[in-house]
Amino acid sequence: MKVSRRNLLASALAAGMAARVTAQENKGSKMANQKPWDTVVVGAGVFGAWTAWHLRKAGQRVLLLDAVGPAHARSSSGGESRMTRGLYGPDEIYTRMAFDSLANWKWLSDLAGLPVFHPTGVIFMFQKREAYVEQGLEVHRRLKLPTLELDRAAIAQRWPQIDSTGIEAGIFEPQFGVLMARRAVQTLVKQFVKSGGEYRVAAVKPPDAEKRVAQLEVGGGSTVSAASFVFACGPWLPKVFPRLLGPRIFPTRQEVFYFATPAGDERFGAGALPGWADYNDGDIFYGMPDIESRGFKVAHDKHGPPIDPDRGDRIASPGGLADVRAYLAKRFPALANAALNEERVCQYENSSNGDLLIDRHPAADNVLLVGGGSGHGFKHGPEVGRYASELLTGRLGKVEPRFSLETKAEQQNRAVH
Ligand SMILES: Cc1cc2nc3c(=O)[nH]c(=O)nc-3n(C[C@H](O)[C@H](O)[C@H](O)COP(=O)(O)OP(=O)(O)OC[C@H]3O[C@@H](n4cnc5c(N)ncnc54)[C@H](O)[C@@H]3O)c2cc1C
Repeated sequence: MKVSRRNLLASALAAGMAARVTAQENKGSKMANQKPWDTVVVGAGVFGAWTAWHLRKAGQRVLLLDAVGPAHARSSSGGESRMTRGLYGPDEIYTRMAFDSLANWKWLSDLAGLPVFHPTGVIFMFQKREAYVEQGLEVHRRLKLPTLELDRAAIAQRWPQIDSTGIEAGIFEPQFGVLMARRAVQTLVKQFVKSGGEYRVAAVKPPDAEKRVAQLEVGGGSTVSAASFVFACGPWLPKVFPRLLGPRIFPTRQEVFYFATPAGDERFGAGALPGWADYNDGDIFYGMPDIESRGFKVAHDKHGPPIDPDRGDRIASPGGLADVRAYLAKRFPALANAALNEERVCQYENSSNGDLLIDRHPAADNVLLVGGGSGHGFKHGPEVGRYASELLTGRLGKVEPRFSLETKAEQQNRAVH
């Protein structure tokens, strides 16, 4: 691939970062002429960026590539905000990962200039004290998390802007909150470059999936060589490995809405309201207070129809808007007729049951597949990156069964919430 100074600068500016321009690239020489990298990471979403960062921290020469840019508008990491929470019912593995990731999010937030992490706390509301509540509390007690149980009266007293009708149980996690998704990934890639990693825009040609990979084609007849390759391509994984992951990763269309809060009314701001998730008898809605004046965020967590991440306009459906408005009228009545500030259409890249995928390619042991964020992956980014880098560098000998390719079925049966 010919990398002109102009192209490099354009992509660096687009990503808001100063990419390293080597003398070799300035002369327009081919990437193939370079010494092989230790690892090439394909995909600069939250998973690829944290993996590249951890590998670099471990001393590797790392090249991070993305077809468009870090946390771009069509990527799954490209939204404004993502919730981080510890409650996962019985799934202690994700409670731990979310909690263990917090320190790195705070570190990133401290150096970003603007917040990456807003410690708003998160309130979970349940119509009945279901097994998920008991199991989640048991995990929190075991891990000694400072979690509070709140009944309906306590929720009504703390947050009268929530209509708590029908709620039997609440769980409040004061240490979690909201991550600024796009800002987080872009800041991290910038940090990765500062620490000596290299980032470039390149659309990688899917490799021959049947054998060990030595190099990748990156456009314009150029190749990059490395000892190992990580494919953290989010909802594009089924396109990159169609036979292997086409039947195992299910991208679904997800709509998100931001509503205007009444001028001068601070009840729906981050100082007054935590992030929230309403389990709503299994039909989950979730959202966030008005963060950085973007608006009050609401989304229905139900899986939408299948989506091709490359095609189609990202316009929400009238039905989706009506759905969240009906919900607002019930639970946040002061916002029932609030003006819509913005709508976003993103995609979940679901595995069959919601477990992450972090495993070696069965035909190429120098290729690591990282993905399956399934609508809850963002918060785990730092730990996913650590885990992936330790698998690659050999610090971790065995793949966690929950993350293995073997456990990824071809039928969807969502189990992780
Ligand atoms: C609406 C919505 C709400 C969500 N809410 C939450 C939440 O509250 N909390 C939470 O923890 N998680 C949440 N998630 C999930 C989370 O955002 C995703 O699981 C996570 O961002 C996935 O990141 P990724 O790195 O796997 O994929 P992506 O961010 O999509 O990154 C993949 C990258 O790979 C690149 N790529 C693909 N193919 C190629 C190629 N051939 N060559 C070069 N580059 C390539 C793409 O350009 C892209 O940038 C939500 C997701 C959505 C859509």
